[in-house]
This record gives sequence, structure tokens and C-alpha cells, in this order.
Amino acid sequence: MSDHAPRELVVKDVVKETGDAHSLVFEGSPMPYKPGQFLTLRIPSDREPTARCYSLSSSPDVDDLLKVTVKRTVDGYGSNWVCDNITPGTTVEVLPPAGHFTPRDLGADLLLFAGGSGITPVISIIKSALKRGRGTLALVYANRDEASVIFGLELAELSRTHPDRLVVHHWLESVQGLPSSVQLAELVRPYVDGRESFICGPGPYMEAVNVALRDLGVPRPLVHIEKFVSLSGTTWGAPVEVVDDGGPTSTVHVELDGDAKELTWPQQSKLLDLLLAKGLDAPYSCRQGDCSACACKLLEGEVTMIKNNVLEQQDLDEGWILACQSLPLSDVVKVSYDA
Ligand SMILES: Cc1cc2nc3c(=O)[nH]c(=O)nc-3n(C[C@H](O)[C@H](O)[C@H](O)COP(=O)(O)OP(=O)(O)OC[C@H]3O[C@@H](n4cnc5c(N)ncnc54)[C@H](O)[C@@H]3O)c2cc1C
Repeated sequence: MSDHAPRELVVKDVVKETGDAHSLVFEGSPMPYKPGQFLTLRIPSDREPTARCYSLSSSPDVDDLLKVTVKRTVDGYGSNWVCDNITPGTTVEVLPPAGHFTPRDLGADLLLFAGGSGITPVISIIKSALKRGRGTLALVYANRDEASVIFGLELAELSRTHPDRLVVHHWLESVQGLPSSVQLAELVRPYVDGRESFICGPGPYMEAVNVALRDLGVPRPLVHIEKFVSLSGTTWGAPVEVVDDGGPTSTVHVELDGDAKELTWPQQSKLLDLLLAKGLDAPYSCRQGDCSACACKLLEGEVTMIKNNVLEQQDLDEGWILACQSLPLSDVVKVSYDA
């Protein structure tokens, strides 16, 4: 089986974390993953195939089993389906771990921001960094009220066992109101010392954090953002479409898993579709520009993306592209999944 093909996981346990958040713990030895990555779960639907991404709240360095944590979204289809229907023994079809919201160096000092369910990838990073590294970690964790705090006890225990390495600042809207960028800047000023920041939470919170970091002069390349969006439309099992109608083609050089390949790229075909059609084991998840699982680096040439709901200007400036949405603009293109 291809490393990136869908597979079935059996739920071993369902943990009620808060009134509206459930963790699913999966049986069996975990697939390899990095802290901060996510799984894509297939959600049954009698309309079109539906899938939702859920970050792994387990850590590859600490936990024996894979775990995702799902918080109900008001009127949301997938999250409520998961929380209402999945019980121990349920089989779930998933795409393997994907995503780039992961520190390059787990030994470095880190500044972390989580809001609500945005804690899921962040606690995975914290657990791995505490286990593998020696750096100091500061977390600002915003929630509606105390009852909404996911992993409150686990974070308290991690702070207690690593008093010199982990500081957790809880921010409760019920007590302090919504955090403004000015308040956030004051709170994190002591930690703005060249370290990388990781932000995951509701849009307005991430925006306030972004402004705070900008006002503190944090260079944009040090800021990493994970946006929790729902995948739209058909994604699961969408056909691979390569338009090979004798029209114009480009040449693409691809570095993937240490191998280099040269392919003829019909200019009306998306890069990911071409790679999958040619049997390359390229990573992907949503295939519609909503997640970053298929991101690769453009080393040479030019492409255009049909849709991009996830890469920021900084990512684009660094050369990241979404293979699932890229069409060639130049005759020769070189991309790398290994860079
Ligand atoms: C990389 C990644 C990681 C993620 N990790 C997590 C995680 O760890 N935990 C977690 O809980 N979530 C996570 N998410 C978010 C998750 O994938 C879903 O987006 C979330 O669960 C909501 O999905 P839903 O199907 O319940 O809601 P949806 O049905 O998608 O609805 C979302 C919102 O849109 C509104 N809406 C829906 N349809 C329409 C419409 N047609 N018109 C107008 N409004 C509409 C709904 O009312 C609701 O407010 C992650 C997302 C990504 C991309």
C-alpha cells in the first residue's frame, strides 16, 4: 500500500475531554508522524463524500497510540457526527498524518498560542519538545471559560513536572474578556527573543496574535499558523484527472523521498494529479487547496494555483506551492518534497 493511501483505524477509546470535545484513541501501532500533524477522517454522508481534518493531540515521542481531539462546531456536520456516533470499536477511514505545522527544531525555545480546540496540535508539540529537547516553552491558551479548557489537567501536570521549561498562561474570556493584540503583546513580550511562534485557534484570536507579534517586531518567517477550516466539496476518492489531449506540455523535475524524476506535465493538469497518475507516492489530503498536506517547494520555474486557502504570503515568498492546485506557467519546473 502507498504510504499516502487511505487506511482503516479502529477506535479503542473515546475520551470526553470537556462538554463539547471528544478524543478518539486509535488501536494499533501508530503510523509515523510529526508533532503538530493531522489526520483526515472520512465522515459518512448520503450526499457527497465528506472528509474533515483533525490534528493529532498525541505525541509521537510520548504516546503509544494515535489520538485526535474533536470539538463540536455549532451546526457543524462532521464534528457533531464524530461526537455523536463514534464509540469504541468503530472503524474510521483516514488519510495518513500530514501537514507542516511542526517545529524544525524540537530543542529550540518556542512561543505557542492556542485558542479552544487549537490546543490539539500545540499539546502534541509541547509533549514532544519536553521529551526530546531542552528548550523553554511559553503557551498562551485562550478559552471561553474554565469548563471549555481542553487538556487543562495534563497541561498543569506538564508545568508541574517541567517548572523551568513550560509556562502556561491561561486566558479566559469569561474573566478577562477577549484578548486584544495590545494585551497579548504585553503578555508575550518577555518571550520575544528570536524564537519561533506557533498559532492555532479561532480566526479573530489568530489575527490578534498576529498583530501582537508584528507590533513586537517578530519577523514573519518565525510565525507559523494552522488554520482550522472544513474541507469543502468532494475530496475523498476524487478521480485523478490528467488532461493528455495533445495540448501544450511542460517538463517537471520532482524530488520525492530521495528520488528524482522527470515527467512531461500537460499544462491543463494539476501537479498532484500528474504525480499520482504516474504512480509517485506524493502526499495529499484535501486535494482542493484547503489544507497544506500536498505542499512542496518550487525550486525553479513558475506555476499558478487555481485555489489557495491555506498558504500565507510568507509561505509563497519562500517558494511553497500546493501541488493539488498547481498548473505550470513555464516550460520547465522543478519542485521538491525533500527541501
Ligand atoms: C489542518 C486542520 C486541523 C484541524 N484540527 C482540528 C482539531 O484538532 N480539532 C477540531 O475540533 N477541529 C479541527 N479542525 C477543524 C475541522 O476539520 C472542522 O473544520 C471542524 O470540526 C468543523 O467541521 P464541521 O463539519 O463540524 O462543521 P461544518 O459543517 O463544516 O460547519 C462549519 C461552520 O460553517 C457553517 N456552515 C456549514 N455549512 C455552511 C453553509 N453551506 N453555508 C454557511 N455556513 C455553513 C456551520 O454552521 C458552522 O458554523 C482542523 C482543520 C484543519 C484544516
